[in-house]
Amino acid sequence: MKKTVIVNAHVVSPGVDIEKATIVVEGKKIKKVIKGSKSVKADANTTVVDVRGQYVMPGFIDVHTHGALGYDFCDADPKAIFEFAKAKLQEGVTTVLPTTLTVSNGELKAAAKNAKAYADAGMPYAKVPGIHLEGPFINVKCCGAQNPKFVRKPDIKEVKEIAKVYPVKLISYAVETEGGDKFAKECFKAGVVPSCGHTGAKFADLKKAYKNGLRHMTHFCNQMTPLHHREIGMVGAGFLVEDLNTEVICDKIHLCPDMLNLIFTRRSLAHVQMITDSLRCSHCKDGYAFTMGGLEVKLENGEARLVKGGNLAGSTLWMGMGLKNVHDVTGIPLKDLVRTTSWNQAIELGWGKTLGKVEKGYIADLVVINPRRWKPSAVFIDGEQRI
Ligand SMILES: [Zn+2]
Repeated sequence: MKKTVIVNAHVVSPGVDIEKATIVVEGKKIKKVIKGSKSVKADANTTVVDVRGQYVMPGFIDVHTHGALGYDFCDADPKAIFEFAKAKLQEGVTTVLPTTLTVSNGELKAAAKNAKAYADAGMPYAKVPGIHLEGPFINVKCCGAQNPKFVRKPDIKEVKEIAKVYPVKLISYAVETEGGDKFAKECFKAGVVPSCGHTGAKFADLKKAYKNGLRHMTHFCNQMTPLHHREIGMVGAGFLVEDLNTEVICDKIHLCPDMLNLIFTRRSLAHVQMITDSLRCSHCKDGYAFTMGGLEVKLENGEARLVKGGNLAGSTLWMGMGLKNVHDVTGIPLKDLVRTTSWNQAIELGWGKTLGKVEKGYIADLVVINPRRWKPSAVFIDGEQRI
């Protein structure tokens, strides 16, 4: 079996921080993680990679991202998913759930078809085990950058039809919409994790969906009811109900540093998931312009804003940078934070025993992060170095 030995690794994995370690990978899996540096000789069957003291972390899992490098997952162009997955891999994301926008049924099916074509081609970049539908069953008053024209009522039949083309792993919808509480149950039956997002729900609405199993919140605090002292809304629910898995955009723009501090220091880290919610303008240079829902957007100083009015249009965040931001703001050790970039997502999606840790028996999806630049210098998928 093909063997890769990673030497001089600073391993950071949930609950683990070993400054000098050797990682032995056999085939797709981690065979062992040894404390200390071991001198290993390369041969025909063994590749030795010296990472010179850089961090080796579990490959990031981004469950909410729309695009990168000028491509959006909902583009009709079949090339879009390939370029998008290539960019995500450069970011250190080894597993991604490409996320749709609130668009027509035909466009959703076309996106699923493109994801299937990417899978059929052997997933040459980041792994795409399924997709995330953001909408179309959202609250028309909380659309954000989603097009209200395509908003419709929860309909499990439509989800099942799309899932026949390519697996749907996660769906963001508004629990307060007609049939929204029962919809959570129907999603679980169909093998889809339901999430509350783009919502004007009151806490009572959330409690009904919670009874039906709902445990996920889409981009916590963004496009949901704020905390009020007589109606705690969805933001209050996120703080009160510990086991809600809350997605958080950690770019310090969608949520200010104080809010990030509040979330990461007051909520259980077992139920926080970092996401990028990145748009096609991520991985692009300043000056890049595009239209979204007919509105012109321009990228300046790394921020995507509407040309008219200057409203924020989406994120350009890289996963590793999100981790750095939260580490800087909160001072929480990386070994505690790193579960929010991979393992929590893996647990919720049913892969917690094989994905999201740098430990014996886990799949060798790994990212090597330069601690000065916070960008990946190497990325491994299934034990194979792809970057
Ligand atoms: Zn989104």
